[in-house]
Amino acid sequence: MSAMPLQSISILGATGSIGRSTLDVVARHPGRFSVCAVAAGSNVEALARIAAQHGVRYAAIGDAGRASELRRRLREFGSRAEVLAGAEGLIGCATLPEADCVMAAIVGAAGLGATIAAARAGKKLLLANKEALVAAGPVFLAALHAGGGALLPIDSEHNAIFQCLPPGSRGNLGVRGIRRILLTGSGGPFRVRSRRELAQVTPAQACAHPTWTMGPKISVDSATMMNKGLEVIEAHWLFEAPPEAIQVVVHPQSVIHSMVEYLDGSVIAQLGNPDMRTPIAQALAYPERIEAGVGPLDLFRVGALEFKAPDFERFPALRLAYASLERGGSAPALLNAANEVAVSAFLARRIPFLEIERVIEATLQGAATGPIRSLEDVMEADRLGREHALRQVARLEAAPA
Ligand code: NAD
Ligand code: MG
Repeated sequence: MSAMPLQSISILGATGSIGRSTLDVVARHPGRFSVCAVAAGSNVEALARIAAQHGVRYAAIGDAGRASELRRRLREFGSRAEVLAGAEGLIGCATLPEADCVMAAIVGAAGLGATIAAARAGKKLLLANKEALVAAGPVFLAALHAGGGALLPIDSEHNAIFQCLPPGSRGNLGVRGIRRILLTGSGGPFRVRSRRELAQVTPAQACAHPTWTMGPKISVDSATMMNKGLEVIEAHWLFEAPPEAIQVVVHPQSVIHSMVEYLDGSVIAQLGNPDMRTPIAQALAYPERIEAGVGPLDLFRVGALEFKAPDFERFPALRLAYASLERGGSAPALLNAANEVAVSAFLARRIPFLEIERVIEATLQGAATGPIRSLEDVMEADRLGREHALRQVARLEAAPA
């Protein structure tokens, strides 16, 4: 390998599933990457341990009330990292002058401010935080354009699509000779369950994904198929694709991570074992290729690949996501906010599984939408969506079915 300049990385959401996979890839290439900063929400112990292990200069904690506890923990682990805290601390981490690259892997709208700040600062941005793009699409893209940095998608499907596109290509799909994007999804842990069975599922069952290991929120999103819905909206903004040109394909083996269909009939796919270290390594080293710790794909063991049409009747969350995209403006931000509220209520056992989609639907029906022109518009839509959804959750708790 040629001698590359050391790339300094700031990891937002370092204690999570994507954060840890990123640290794993980075640790395999000590001469190539270094970690200058790590940020997390509230897990002080895990953050301090990571900060010490990777010798970072800054550690940021979203929950500002835990800053002094973080300082104490860092000292215990022998780290001299400077502590940043609260929303400003996360933004500080996302815009550090010494960071060449930012991994945006905070879960949910909590990551919005820092992710957009990294885009505006022109950092090479590795985007895992799909909720930021769903809620704030046009605002995020304007920040990215103003900053002039590179954007590399980490979500495995979008990373696959990126790899299947002509290098450096821009513009709408037609200009690039593309007919459709084929967005694959495993179908989640409940792919073949009936509605009646779905009514009974528990948080533990929803979090046990058949092919991917992920954080709890995205695992529940996979079980409702809202994850695929959010990914349709994500693909819309990333690839300038109209909703009707994005086809969801249920593919239980999770070997093909997505495909691009061209006007001449060619379909190009990206394959690999389901391991997030592949898209993370692809994005970190782009346009080069590096070892990710992922074993070779054993096609003989896979044997057969299946493809099925998505079932909008059993999984209405997918329909709601398409509908919010058609409605436009702040509708996807409302959808995202209501989903976050409903998923955390389900994980806390406050509402049953099938009420997740009802909370979202009622929010989309009840809350007014407006244009998304600024981060303030996004924050306002997010607040409104949460308020409506929380009221729905409280009503459901008061009058159980
Ligand atoms: P996770 O729950 O494992 O980790 C979430 C991280 O966000 C943690 O480090 C946590 O401390 C941090 N965080 C949470 N709330 C915060 C707050 N208020 N302020 C600051 N930090 C906060 O989640 P994950 O599975 O790693 O997912 C992270 C993001 O990547 C999500 O947006 C998810 O949709 C996306 N993603 C994940 C996967 C996957 O395989 N896990 C795949 C594709 C996309
Ligand atoms: Mg995905």
